[in-house]
Amino acid sequence: MNSLLLTGGRVIDPANHFDSVADVLLMDGKVAAVGKNLPAPAGVEKFNAHGKVVAPGLIDLHVHLREPGQTAKETIATGSAAAARGGFTSIVCMPNTSPAIDHAGNVALIRERAKTEGVVNVFVAGAISKGLDGEELAPIGGLKKAGVIAITDDGHCVQNNDLMRRACEYAHMFDLPVMDHCQDYSLVTDGVMHEGYWNVALGLRGWPSAGEEMIVARNILLAELTGARIHCQHLSAAGSVALIRDAKKRGVPISGEACPHHFTLTDAAVAGSEKFWAGDGRQLFRSSRAEGRHPAWPAYDTHFKMNPPLRSAKDREAVLAGLADGTIEILASDHAPHCDYEKEVEFDYAPFGIIGLETELALCLMQLVHARRLSLVDLITKYTLNPARLLNLKKGTLSVGAEADVTVFDPDREWVFRREDSASKSRNSPFFGWHLKGRAVATIVAGRPVFVERGEPVAV
Ligand SMILES: [Zn+2]
Ligand SMILES: [Zn+2]
Repeated sequence: MNSLLLTGGRVIDPANHFDSVADVLLMDGKVAAVGKNLPAPAGVEKFNAHGKVVAPGLIDLHVHLREPGQTAKETIATGSAAAARGGFTSIVCMPNTSPAIDHAGNVALIRERAKTEGVVNVFVAGAISKGLDGEELAPIGGLKKAGVIAITDDGHCVQNNDLMRRACEYAHMFDLPVMDHCQDYSLVTDGVMHEGYWNVALGLRGWPSAGEEMIVARNILLAELTGARIHCQHLSAAGSVALIRDAKKRGVPISGEACPHHFTLTDAAVAGSEKFWAGDGRQLFRSSRAEGRHPAWPAYDTHFKMNPPLRSAKDREAVLAGLADGTIEILASDHAPHCDYEKEVEFDYAPFGIIGLETELALCLMQLVHARRLSLVDLITKYTLNPARLLNLKKGTLSVGAEADVTVFDPDREWVFRREDSASKSRNSPFFGWHLKGRAVATIVAGRPVFVERGEPVAV
């Protein structure tokens, strides 16, 4: 019998309003019991979780695994290994692969491969439009039948509002959430960084906040019109947060996610580390020893190029406020691997995106919990209960009988993110050399540890 007893951790299960020091018994892939001083069944393996947080397995609903077609950047095996290291038991892969995940065959391929190669649970998001070209709807019913749990054209954005309306109507019929990368092409054109002070100072083409806000507003109207649940991905702009806050008050089925890079960094980072630490970075991480140890990088470093772009300090504050007041319900990485040679070019020509699975928990703990903007319970909710609810997944809880997906993390562990320690196939992170606080020590999928931090004994 496959069994594991996690002893003496602070067990936080938001779905059951449980927050107490307790043991968790996992048997045959399910949660068998949660309680104080549980008797150990014969032959059970034990894990000492004293001083650690024991949470339902964390879910990241925004990950690019690059398979099929771009396996030089990442594969299901390496991407899911990075997820395990980061403390994630479930991830959702985006359909902007090559070919795109816009038909049942491709969904089946990924689900099949995930079963054999995946270290954690891999769920598949299907495309909204064929080839993500925004012109013709993908077969949404067929995608649902093949097992997708959401649709999105992420990396692209459907510009035709009527097509988006039809997608929402189908999605609503099939009870699939529509996840949207909010970008108005006519406003953004070929912008490469936030349109503000720094893009002018650096001579780079601007990507205005309105380019995101326009589509967030469109999505609110379409959610109201169709009743579909629309989820706005990687929110970066203050105006987007305000629009969603207001729409939610009216009961519109709209939701949003935020990524740690958007609420940690700002556009000043593109001007180089000196400018960043002297300005927008000055107040960062006051609660940890990281303060005063400032990693250096040059101006125009392409590891600070993402889509949507890093924005102003005011936008960063608005995203943090949106997370604090519940406007933004979900945290995610937008893990977007790219090869070194692709990023080692002029800023204008580099692809957008950074890897994030291994740093997101620490950055969220630092910017939200250690900075006293959010409780630990609320942070876990945004990584478990809320994404599970959006995606209709029977996950994100430690209820007895639930799948034995568990994340054990130490919110106070200080560590440095090093290039050589990443399990991802790519190394496009702006956070190498950063002193971080908080990390996963064990990631358990269906009762089986898939990652245990070195030096952390499984048996006690
Ligand atoms: Zn995107
Ligand atoms: Zn993405």
